[in-house]
Amino acid sequence: MISISSAKQQATINGELALARGSWVKLICGASNQDLASIADLCAVYAVAGVQCVDVAADIAVVNAARQGLDWAKSKHGVQPWLMISLSDGKDIHFRKAWFNPEICPQDCSRPCQKICPAKAISTNKGIKENLCYGCGRCIPICPLGLIKEVDKHIEAKEFGTLVSHVKPEAIEIHTAPGRAQAFKQTVGELTKTNTNIIRMAVSCGLEEHSLSPETLAKELWQRFNCLKEYGLKPIWQLDGRPMSGDLGSNPAKASVNLWQQIRHWAPPGPLQLAGGTNGYTINHLNDRYGPEGIAFGGIARRLLQPLLLEAQQRNISLREWPQGWDSALTKAKQLISPWLIRRANH
Ligand code: SF4
Ligand code: SF4
Repeated sequence: MISISSAKQQATINGELALARGSWVKLICGASNQDLASIADLCAVYAVAGVQCVDVAADIAVVNAARQGLDWAKSKHGVQPWLMISLSDGKDIHFRKAWFNPEICPQDCSRPCQKICPAKAISTNKGIKENLCYGCGRCIPICPLGLIKEVDKHIEAKEFGTLVSHVKPEAIEIHTAPGRAQAFKQTVGELTKTNTNIIRMAVSCGLEEHSLSPETLAKELWQRFNCLKEYGLKPIWQLDGRPMSGDLGSNPAKASVNLWQQIRHWAPPGPLQLAGGTNGYTINHLNDRYGPEGIAFGGIARRLLQPLLLEAQQRNISLREWPQGWDSALTKAKQLISPWLIRRANH
């Protein structure tokens, strides 16, 4: 175990308090998102807006960009959310990129792939910009010629020990799936060798992608719980309603709430946190004052700020250096997350 500084102790306490009272909010930058300039600004804006955690790809350049944004938020505004990195114990759609060879596309293609990409990752002549693609998969079925392929980018357990030792995140998330209890255990085993103080180990799993019943998912989560308990690790259960769809409106928002309602009575001990399809509509689907302990916003959090991030990049500055853009971004971020901070904190 490394020694914990007093600043880190305070950050630990703040995050734990938020989980205990149910006001935990996390920013998901995307397990495959490597858009470094945007990540630094996103982390800064949402940290100042009040999230307790930012969740980024397990990539040293991404972590450095996130730390840059978080360090700025700490020095200017005194806030210090946890940094979480996301891993997977096997193949997972959150850890993929799309790819095609632009040289074989017909000149007269109307380019539906380019139009549907929420990350503006597809350029007119050069194919997919790998750093911008976060693997949502929407371009794959829309190509009339089937030219777009999915490329698995998840890293193996034996590869991420060095990364984790180096970046020392406050928390780690493991995306898991049914039948992978052994792979999960191996992953946790590798992580515990890294001599890193992990405050919480988040476990992400959902029903839709794996066609599970709530009871089966609960059994799988109990297996993960027993594994974490063996290693003395505290969980957060991330319920992934409809993966990577938070920018698509009210229906995906309902999926994440439905999953929580289906699983809450069977889930193992530990805070339950919504994800996958969460957005500004999510809170309207909760009619029970005993809601989940937390929520994570991904696609919608990024989409809300995208025009401002792009404009800042066109000006060759960061959002942090552009007061008008910063104020607009912060207002949008607060509008998204504040209902969760206020609603839960009042209970
Ligand atoms: S649509 Fe999604 S998967 Fe396709 S390039 Fe854009 S971000 Fe990547
Ligand atoms: S839709 Fe298919 S053919 Fe058309 S530009 Fe995109 S990848 Fe090429």
